[in-house]
Amino acid sequence: MSITAQSLPQRDCIVVGAGYGGLAAALALHKVGLSVLVLERAPSPRQEGFSIGAFSNSWRAFEELGVADEVRKDHLPMKSVNYADSHDNVYRSLNIKDLPYPEGLKGSELRVIRRLAAPVAMTNALPKGTVHYGGTVVGAKVTPTGAEVELADGQKLAAKMVVLADGVHSKSAQKYHKVPLKVMDVAGWRAMAELDAEEEPEIVATFTSGPNTRVGTIPVTYDAQRKKMLWYYFMAASMKEKEMKSYDTYEKHIAGMRKHMTGWKSPHMEKLLAATQSDSVLISHIYERRVKPGDAWFEGCLSGVGDCAHATRPDLGQGGAMAIEDGVELGVYIKEAMEAAGKPFGELSPGDIAAALRNYETGRSHRVFHIIDKSSKFGTMFLVISILPRWLMRFILAWLIQPATALEHTVWAPHGRLRPPSLPRDTGSA
Ligand SMILES: Cc1cc2nc3c(=O)[nH]c(=O)nc-3n(C[C@H](O)[C@H](O)[C@H](O)COP(=O)(O)OP(=O)(O)OC[C@H]3O[C@@H](n4cnc5c(N)ncnc54)[C@H](O)[C@@H]3O)c2cc1C
Repeated sequence: MSITAQSLPQRDCIVVGAGYGGLAAALALHKVGLSVLVLERAPSPRQEGFSIGAFSNSWRAFEELGVADEVRKDHLPMKSVNYADSHDNVYRSLNIKDLPYPEGLKGSELRVIRRLAAPVAMTNALPKGTVHYGGTVVGAKVTPTGAEVELADGQKLAAKMVVLADGVHSKSAQKYHKVPLKVMDVAGWRAMAELDAEEEPEIVATFTSGPNTRVGTIPVTYDAQRKKMLWYYFMAASMKEKEMKSYDTYEKHIAGMRKHMTGWKSPHMEKLLAATQSDSVLISHIYERRVKPGDAWFEGCLSGVGDCAHATRPDLGQGGAMAIEDGVELGVYIKEAMEAAGKPFGELSPGDIAAALRNYETGRSHRVFHIIDKSSKFGTMFLVISILPRWLMRFILAWLIQPATALEHTVWAPHGRLRPPSLPRDTGSA
């Protein structure tokens, strides 16, 4: 069902897209006192990707948004992260509790969460009626008084601020962003499989490298009787467009994955492939938008969060985490702008809002650049080293992967807190 401009309420801010980034931004802005409208083109909360790895920085952001415990429910905490070769030989094991952890958490944390868990928790924490499904936005524009979006029926909806959160293919980001989007010659498979819990009892994430291919396998949860364990796995492989398009049935996907694992002797991976659920295989292009440290991304009262602003390769499993961090930081920068002006959001001028958005973008650019750069170096390093003889690959990678540096990028805290602004004679915005 599509929606019309007349059926939608007037709000301070319009967020385009109800993925991780859009919902985190909406919740953060709501927490600092703004009224928000989220427009999502899908008819219901989106499942694509099935599951997602959440490292310590995601949990720190979920804590700030007040949804961490709800999202943790039913998802297994990993005890360790293992790095293995294509014959299942583990050459480096990092104990999660020995890794550096962010301020505000009791220790490092890694869980894979079912894709819908976080969007549902964030949506439930927003006032009813904030998220509108079936709301396709065909364009967004900066205006003298703020910004506006155009709906599929050609009608326009204005607000003081528009936040793009419509993912890597965002047309509006393409129009306004200063950095072009690059398609990489790498494709990512994501899939879910169910294994006998007694046969695979270890709560361990394993990242395995073989020639031309990397695989991550991570348990997500048990079934109610604790007999079956649900697993998420992803695979990144160098691939040209034509090959990627040829994987259009479940059987072809599985055959394609096996082809990319030629020469592997991994009983664990074999079990996962055999138990892969037929409706749970997805292959995606990998994109990168390599923003520069210190540069702003958009203009006027329009900005963006997540993949539309700074798509990154998935080699560190950080795209979703960056989107949630963005949302939290956007809320903090807007709160600080209200405090600096001594006014609620409704009384800020378009110039004040634009300045806050540029502060948010330049502030975030250093962090996201670090992740984009490290993901790209990690991915390249694993692929290059994995073509060496296995003993040499193990030796080099065991030396390169160290507890202090492997997950150093997951140590993060927002630069301020998400609280209503403290204003003269007022504690919140209009
Ligand atoms: C193989 C692979 C593995 C990954 N693994 C991880 C991982 O382990 N951990 C991690 O943190 N990240 C991971 N990622 C990255 C992660 O999936 C993305 O970075 C994250 O989903 C980006 O969130 P987003 O909100 O920016 O965009 P999206 O999730 O793409 O959400 C965009 C939303 O906008 C909506 N939309 C689009 N166009 C419009 C429109 N015109 N009007 C209205 N709505 C619109 C869409 O329907 C969607 O709901 C992985 C990615 C890949 C490819």
